[in-house]
Amino acid sequence: MLNLFIENHQFNNINHQAHLIVNACKNSFNNDVILAAKFSGLEKIKDQFKELSKSESKVLEQIIQIDSSDSCENFLNEVEKYRKDIKKISEKELKKSFPKRKKISIPNYLINSTNKISFFSWDDLGYKKRFLLYQLNGEYIGIEGTYSSISHNSFCSFCRMKNKVHLVAFLSKAKSSNPDYYKTISQYICLDIEKCNAQIKDLSHLEDLFYELLKNDL
Ligand SMILES: [Zn+2]
Repeated sequence: MLNLFIENHQFNNINHQAHLIVNACKNSFNNDVILAAKFSGLEKIKDQFKELSKSESKVLEQIIQIDSSDSCENFLNEVEKYRKDIKKISEKELKKSFPKRKKISIPNYLINSTNKISFFSWDDLGYKKRFLLYQLNGEYIGIEGTYSSISHNSFCSFCRMKNKVHLVAFLSKAKSSNPDYYKTISQYICLDIEKCNAQIKDLSHLEDLFYELLKNDL
């Protein structure tokens, strides 16, 4: 059985680096430039992993073979076989993730599909709520924010790509000397959650938000 070792954001970065190499191959006649792009891409994708076995390294090192759109596609198809799904969440875990909500339901399509995503997210259109569910240190944690109805094109705080975003305001539980004080943290986040999950290459910005909101609970 294949050892699935590539998480969603890591795959997104591999995909990004592979396309940068294709562009270098198309736009440069200088072999040194192309080779430099290949090795820089390989280094960037390897840096994302805490550790890699020999066989896992071998899978990634095939990026060096890319010299056209076709070979890029072949490489990505090969890498795709090693992609992990997000850990499935049970009803019990879901309830535990949003302890203050008596009723919380995650849309069925999110729970039932095999998802190559980094985080679950969905909107309550009536209340203009955005829910986020993310596995932090092995445990699912839920947060919710209120989004503004105005959207515009700007950089998303999570995936760092320019997309249609809206401002989502999260209430921090961070305690202060004033017990009534709740800090609001507002972030621009992609309207299209699927797209955000397909573009996120680094989880640190998403994790920063969770840490900031929950710093007294963790
Ligand atoms: Zn995004």
